[in-house]
Amino acid sequence: MFPALGLETRSRTANGIDVSRVLEVLYLDPGKSGDLTEFLPIGRIEKLCQEYLDAESFATQLFDELKSSILAPERLYNEIMAFLFKIDKKGSLHSLLAICNENTSRSMFKIVLDNIDGFMRFTDPKRVIDYLQALPRYDGIVNVLRNELERIRNPEIMKKLVLRTIPQLGQFSAYDILYTIYETQHPDNNVTCEARQFVEKIEPNFLRFYENLDEERKHPRGKLFFCPITSNLTELLVQLGTPALENNDRFKIIDILWENMPQTGRFERIIIESVQNRIHEEQPIILRRYQQELCKVAIEGKNTIVTAPTGSGKTVIAANILKHHFEQARINGKQSKALFMTPNSVILQQQASSLSNYLKHLYLVKIIQGAENVPVRGTILSNDLIVATPQMIVNLCNEHSQFENDPDINVTQFFLSTFSIIIFDECHNTQKNSPYSNIMKIYHEMKNTGVMPSGHCLPQIIGLTASLGVGQAKNELEAVDHIADLAANMDVHELSVVREHIGELQQFSPIVPDNLCFCDKRIDETNLQFATTLAQFMTKMEKVMINLIESTGDFEMRGRNSPDTLDVGPVRRERVKGEFKLPPLDKDHEAYLNWVANHKILISESKFERDKQVFEILEILEKSYWTLEHNSNFNSQEAYNLINEFMEQQKPSLHMEVIRTWEEYHHILSQARNSTNPMIEKVVENLIELYNRNDDFRAIVFIKTRVGAVTLAKILSSIQELKDKQIRTDYISGLNKGSDELAASKRAQQEKIDKFAEGSIKVLVATSVAEEGLDIAKCNLVVKYNYATNEIAHVQRRGRGRAANSKCILITNNIRLKEQESSNKTKEHLMYEAMNMILKKHINFENIVRSKMIAIWKNIQDEKAAKESIIQKQLNSNIQYKILCKKCKTLLCMHSDIRAEKTQYFVCNPNFWKLIRKVMFSPSEQEAEIRFGGKGKIQCKQCYSGLGRLIEVRSVELPCLAADSIVLEYCVNSQIELKMCRKWKDILKNHFTPQDLRALDIKTMQAENRQLNFEVDSLGEILNILRD
Ligand SMILES: [Zn+2]
Repeated sequence: MFPALGLETRSRTANGIDVSRVLEVLYLDPGKSGDLTEFLPIGRIEKLCQEYLDAESFATQLFDELKSSILAPERLYNEIMAFLFKIDKKGSLHSLLAICNENTSRSMFKIVLDNIDGFMRFTDPKRVIDYLQALPRYDGIVNVLRNELERIRNPEIMKKLVLRTIPQLGQFSAYDILYTIYETQHPDNNVTCEARQFVEKIEPNFLRFYENLDEERKHPRGKLFFCPITSNLTELLVQLGTPALENNDRFKIIDILWENMPQTGRFERIIIESVQNRIHEEQPIILRRYQQELCKVAIEGKNTIVTAPTGSGKTVIAANILKHHFEQARINGKQSKALFMTPNSVILQQQASSLSNYLKHLYLVKIIQGAENVPVRGTILSNDLIVATPQMIVNLCNEHSQFENDPDINVTQFFLSTFSIIIFDECHNTQKNSPYSNIMKIYHEMKNTGVMPSGHCLPQIIGLTASLGVGQAKNELEAVDHIADLAANMDVHELSVVREHIGELQQFSPIVPDNLCFCDKRIDETNLQFATTLAQFMTKMEKVMINLIESTGDFEMRGRNSPDTLDVGPVRRERVKGEFKLPPLDKDHEAYLNWVANHKILISESKFERDKQVFEILEILEKSYWTLEHNSNFNSQEAYNLINEFMEQQKPSLHMEVIRTWEEYHHILSQARNSTNPMIEKVVENLIELYNRNDDFRAIVFIKTRVGAVTLAKILSSIQELKDKQIRTDYISGLNKGSDELAASKRAQQEKIDKFAEGSIKVLVATSVAEEGLDIAKCNLVVKYNYATNEIAHVQRRGRGRAANSKCILITNNIRLKEQESSNKTKEHLMYEAMNMILKKHINFENIVRSKMIAIWKNIQDEKAAKESIIQKQLNSNIQYKILCKKCKTLLCMHSDIRAEKTQYFVCNPNFWKLIRKVMFSPSEQEAEIRFGGKGKIQCKQCYSGLGRLIEVRSVELPCLAADSIVLEYCVNSQIELKMCRKWKDILKNHFTPQDLRALDIKTMQAENRQLNFEVDSLGEILNILRD
């Protein structure tokens, strides 16, 4: 419907002005281009300005390029219209082009044809012309009409000419003629009456209708088109203005005319409707006295942090605060909208449904999960309470921040002040650069600058937590300081803690005693032998590696043979040698893992072929570390399986000497045995004891790693004693994008949680992801399996075990953990002391918070300035970065080909498609990946090393690069440097800042991708990409 050609034809007829003439403005001021820049490569308009000597040829060329842009068929018409609206102040070209809805013009003519007799009888051409002349929108065309009429004497023909012009006059012109008919005073009163009756027959209550219509035209509201997310928007645009659209029942059209507007406030009607339907479903909010006490500050409308142990009913407190907030707003005639957030998505659903039980009879509650294509803004606007993860909201607030300095561009920027109240569940996470913290930064900025839409206010902030934590505090004052930090971050000056009804609170949340069970490492022959042999293997591998590093012999350069790389060869080699540090002797200490990680970075920045072997050895050492931990946690058989599986996978690419070394130790390691670990015996003992007291018990076992969780669940499930008593065990672990085969799907996880709640699973092994907020109704035992973290997790996990007589134990064979646990207890004590100082006003807490808030605002400003200066510095340095495959050093693209969308980074150079192969997700990855818009993995075509993922962005698959799969090559002080960054954050900070992803980039990548054929094998894996 709006191909570039059609637009051009229209523009040429526009009273001598055409679109390209209007574009001449940009010759002098390209900054006014607005969204037109989206159609062309970055900086193209500025470049054209320099290339052309005069505005006219510049504008002609620009218009040609706009029309041939890949985006033109879908969007050029709209953007040109938006542009004209801004630039063309007189509006003549704009209004001419705006009369494009042929359908409406035709419908006007239909009114005439249907009532032709009346029109022929009552129309007075002279009056019509005089009337139309007074309306600016008919300028031009009326003059032509008047000239024509002057040459005609026959009144019949004059009438016909006027009526025939209606399609050209456009929308509503028939009503203008009807108005002249209605208003004409004929000498014969009867004729006046008949004329009015004629008009009233067509449109009853005509004057009122016409008045509204006129109002409508002065302030047009237009039409709303609803396009279902499953349909293609292009199709709707193409059909605009054609009968096909009216007949297409997938698209819904609402004409926003006065008569179509709802008569009563939408909000109230929704309430009435929901009350009628759901009044019987209401779950009343009944508060205990301590809960009322905890709500007090929040209900006064003040920001606060509600601190109460898990199990004391924080959700009902939140529901009560929200309900009160909604009611108060209604009484005061104010808008209200609430946001409830939880830091991880596992517990989102659970919190949403409990809040919904209390509120849904009166208010619309909606959960928003992080997936593309969900109309988030619309969902927020049409509901009263939104339950979401903080990252979702951060993304939303940042979406249009690049336009925030241009008030002319009508983008719907999202404001945090859309919400009148925000609840942060597990709010102790509001620190450093957490998503919670980023939301509060937006809040602080709004508070300090006052920039928000008119009518908006700062939202009320409510935090919920079981424990405020003390950070690294060593004494009460430092602990107070830590709590004040949190309060300042959340703009809270008054804490909500139970003081009056402590007795009642204790009834509902029994304090759980912490036990510590230290298991000496048993003298298990095979276990010990396995650990010793593996440590020997590790030492041997280290030696092989050190030899490789030390040797100065025939190192061939790897990858591309660029002459400048050869020059720096020896220097580079010296650097690797110089920075290489000997591995720590203690192979089962975390320091060893850090050593591996640091050297992996060092080596991946080396250009020498043989360093690839060093890298492989480092990966083997890393796996060996985890194998040692597995051996200590379980038994030598499990440990052997872990390392053996890994070595088998790696074998094809390993160097002969590495394979020889492995085989040397392999036969001793393979004598591993399935012995029983004393820590497991201890777990079983506790479970049986629990079972004997109460056979409907629940227990959670926390463990450090996913692999650990899977293994422990497997071992417990195989123990006969537990099987006999129907004590079933399963595991849950987080949904981590980075980890592959163990990324349990979210739904499977929810199913397990449900089964646990209902009792078919009695024991749940979990990693730390589950530790916060997971609301498990009756948990009688919490075990920390060789694992302890900071003091928050300490209180939190105790909170998990909350049934009467429940207990929490740490089972460990590690003396360091044992010590750490007692330090956790000290910290907990410290926190209570600090709270006492605050509550008894031994210190001026409010003052401390106030000065911290000033510091926060200063920090936000400094951070912003620093970020801007970094970007400026990067631009000034003019360094060109080559992006290489980490493993084989193939050149993948240049830094200027990278585009950013939120926190994902895409290669937007069509050539990239030729350098990669696409691999499907394994079934276990599939479900979790799809949630993030993942469509498959991408690998380097040269060496099969993983490069990242294919992600769907606005229905198009784009290659998303993983920072840890690439190396940057750049030239600084005529030295070629190779640099590996594990995270994009580091690349942004130290190297370059990619441009934001634009529609043009997406289109270009899509167009090129279509031309590629994929050769697929039976497993759906793509073997080759062939050009046409
Ligand atoms: Zn490669």
